[in-house]
Amino acid sequence: MKREELIKDGERIVFYRSEIFPPDCRHGFFTSDMDFNPLRCPSDILNQNVHKIASALDFDASGFVSVKQIHSADVRNVGKCDGGKFYFRPSDFECDGYVTVESGTALGVRSADCVPILLCAVNGNGETISVSAVHAGWRGTVKKIAVAAVHRMCSVGAVPERIFAAIGPSICQDCFEVGGDFVQSVREGLGESACLRYIVPSKDKDEKFHADLWSMNRDQLLSCGVLPKNIDVFGICTCCNTNEFFSHRGSGKAPHGTQISVIVMP
Ligand SMILES: [Zn+2]
Repeated sequence: MKREELIKDGERIVFYRSEIFPPDCRHGFFTSDMDFNPLRCPSDILNQNVHKIASALDFDASGFVSVKQIHSADVRNVGKCDGGKFYFRPSDFECDGYVTVESGTALGVRSADCVPILLCAVNGNGETISVSAVHAGWRGTVKKIAVAAVHRMCSVGAVPERIFAAIGPSICQDCFEVGGDFVQSVREGLGESACLRYIVPSKDKDEKFHADLWSMNRDQLLSCGVLPKNIDVFGICTCCNTNEFFSHRGSGKAPHGTQISVIVMP
């Protein structure tokens, strides 16, 4: 994981990227310097911010796809025809993950404490053949959206052994306190063994627990055949680092800002 700081048109742009991704795969997990929450930001600011990330990652803003997120496990194949939906024109769909094989298409997911995951698949020569972006909140994690993304990448030519994944800034286990209803959802969705593996009781509060979303998503990728060395867990907590990231848990009243994570199909 590497922190990048660029100056574009006199403005500082900060993002984090994975150093295990292939060189042709431009991507970035951006910070709270730019807010992408449509509930909070006027549309001219949102448009400006889309253009800033397009400039930082060198893609045409008209190829940007990032629609309304609904905490589902729905991952869509998208392309140029979907470019600009939601931010620049109405979208005819909502979802929480995307896969594309179309050059110039950029995929974006918004998050505050939820887990952003960027993926890319390469061919035998190490060239990118598809990319994916996933918004894995706890609901999406319980519904296994990471698995859905890998399956969809494989349906367009990827093999799991040649998929790279980066699990970006999101809430850590210590900060992610949950109640019994959360534990019950994990039990129903992933089984009792998942509760034992990913959830620990709070040290000082009755009926409270702490859940490890990073390991839940990492293990889902491993279960699909993605190799351990190809999964980059950044280990950056949004809630522990509210100086640099928006955090639902770590900040005051809603609506909160949301940062964006973007990957570009070369
Ligand atoms: Zn934390």
